[in-house]
Amino acid sequence: MAWFKKVRKPIEPLAKNQPSRVPEGLWVKCPSCGEVIYNKDLASTLNVCPKCAHHLRIGAVERLRMLFDADWVEYDTNLQSTDPLKFIDTKPYRTRLDATIASTGMRDAVICATGRIDGIETSVAAMEYTFIGGSMGVVVGEKITRAIERAIDGRLPVVIVSSSGGARMMEGALSLMQMAKISAALARLDRARLPYISVLTDPTTGGVTASFAMLGDVNIAEPKALIGFAGPRVIEQTIRQKLPEGFQRSEFLLEHGMLDLVVDRREMKAAIARVLRFALAEDGPARARPAAASPAPPQPPAPQP
Ligand SMILES: [Zn+2]
Repeated sequence: MAWFKKVRKPIEPLAKNQPSRVPEGLWVKCPSCGEVIYNKDLASTLNVCPKCAHHLRIGAVERLRMLFDADWVEYDTNLQSTDPLKFIDTKPYRTRLDATIASTGMRDAVICATGRIDGIETSVAAMEYTFIGGSMGVVVGEKITRAIERAIDGRLPVVIVSSSGGARMMEGALSLMQMAKISAALARLDRARLPYISVLTDPTTGGVTASFAMLGDVNIAEPKALIGFAGPRVIEQTIRQKLPEGFQRSEFLLEHGMLDLVVDRREMKAAIARVLRFALAEDGPARARPAAASPAPPQPPAPQP
């Protein structure tokens, strides 16, 4: 015999088709300090936590909106991977691509555009992490290369915002070739005496770090961004040593000379504009001047009377 009976009926679970009355995505919890932030407040701080200044990840479109003064012109929107290796892992690469294209509304992991940053016409490429981990395949390589070539033709400075897990494994060696291709285009940009600013955001790893992300005339990172080539576990196993605190974070890399600046996202646009203005200024360093205006070779000193 039971000591007591359940008098009341248990509360019935919510019918599955009955929609919740609380709208989704109104509040965001900061992954660093746990503060619950109102979504609209976050938009006004460029997705930086107002309490602890943790930088939440942002997409390529938000990045362009943050950098450009107004509208921008986007290029090569129709480029799409052809799946040259007919690659299949847990599912076919083709299926994975189609699903990502449908969910992100983008054809690949980078947006290339031109527009004005604080009045300076600039060619910008911004990577999108939600597109297969921002991985660099043939299309990303081609689009960034074209953005650099467009800058050379129009005598514009280049800004590339990296956010990537590295090369795209589903395109094998073809994705690795993009490292050389983009680096070669950057060398031509350098010969044309035009500045390139690399902006490294969380995360920038693998082949992207090993090529264009570290080739900037000025390399700027966001605070506490993960920047590295191989993951810490792989390195620990290889060198059989414990890695130091904060290893592969922006501040550590700045301290060890891998970066030039670590800048808060809310000041990023102003910092980029300042660097561009310095590099493009007539009285700036000689290498930033247009090739035609470079000084004549030194003449032997005139004989003194
Ligand atoms: Zn926070």
